[in-house]
Amino acid sequence: MSLGHHPSRGASVSLNTLQKSYGKVGAVTGVSLDLQSGEFLTLLGPSGSGKTTTLMMIAGFEAPSAGDIAIDGVSVVDMPPYRRNIGMVFQNYALFPHLTVAENIGFPLKQRGVPKAERTRLVGEALELVHLGAYGGRYPRQMSGGQQQRVAVARAVVFKPRLLLLDEPLGALDKQLRENLQLEMRRLHAELGITCILVTHDQDEALTMSDRVAVMHEGKVVQVGHPEALYDRPSNRFVAGFIGESNFLPALVRGLESDVVVVECEGALIRAMTSQRPPIGANITVAIRPERLRFADGLVGPGVVGNRTSVTVREAVFCGERCRYLLETDGGTSLILKEPSSAATRRRVPGERADITWSPADTIVV
Ligand code: ADP
Ligand code: MG
Repeated sequence: MSLGHHPSRGASVSLNTLQKSYGKVGAVTGVSLDLQSGEFLTLLGPSGSGKTTTLMMIAGFEAPSAGDIAIDGVSVVDMPPYRRNIGMVFQNYALFPHLTVAENIGFPLKQRGVPKAERTRLVGEALELVHLGAYGGRYPRQMSGGQQQRVAVARAVVFKPRLLLLDEPLGALDKQLRENLQLEMRRLHAELGITCILVTHDQDEALTMSDRVAVMHEGKVVQVGHPEALYDRPSNRFVAGFIGESNFLPALVRGLESDVVVVECEGALIRAMTSQRPPIGANITVAIRPERLRFADGLVGPGVVGNRTSVTVREAVFCGERCRYLLETDGGTSLILKEPSSAATRRRVPGERADITWSPADTIVV
């Protein structure tokens, strides 16, 4: 058997109203998630939102206070960690300093009683998998941070687990190295067909790496979906603010037309997308991404079907690939507008009046 190309090497995972309390502290207060075989799912959330605790319960290092964890349809809550057959990588590599790279990677095989010759073969394969074929005889201290983390990944997959858990595995590395390793881990995931759960607080990492992202806040999953869906259709204010940047406008519901809601914002009528159908007269908030707002001069006539309002430019910052404007509506609300920079575009100056426009499709009720 070789490590690569296994059509069904990934486990399905089902978390059912999982909870964990430490005394009065609810670290995880109800997490339900279903992962398909071979899926790459990321738990994304701020520090303290319960990501690590969730992972520790799946791995078996923490017992749930309530709820169930099933792997391939079988409940594992009463199973010790080693019997769950799960690979794990942590932020601080946790390699054994007194063992060589090859010995580190071979360690889980030794624990499982795999004979020496088979161990040597599997370790060699795992080293190749992470492109460290020539490094088996080195000690961890002789390797860079990125290389050590690749060793940790090799050690986590050498015994062919069907599920790989990664807790901020790239958190200690610099940006360039982190981005390289993100791509490498995507490749590894595709090659092995293993189911992966990644924990990170880094939204870019989550959006880049995952099939789906589960956003966590205060011990709960507040939204789960494909990266684009989370960005374009955040279902609440927390997600809209945590993933990317958002402008928030207070609004009063005036009318409903199928999936569009007409709201009044500071006297102007604007259209927003909704799946929730809030009642007429309700006070709600709409969110708009800064890069979806545009200055409206020259964009007049029947071709433009959009939302529109008047603003005063308060600040203009040139950021290389784009200009970032701080605007103020006549009602006193601050808005950020990001415009791709171009030598052909006139730069706005503070104090200037302008009209801005944006599409109802980019106006989300949160
Ligand atoms: P994250 O990984 O998202 O940063 P954690 O799962 O580590 O969050 O922690 C969630 C919450 O549970 C935090 O408020 C944390 O302080 C608390 N917590 C985690 N582990 C313990 C523990 N062993 N004892 C008491 N509180 C804990
Ligand atoms: Mg954590």
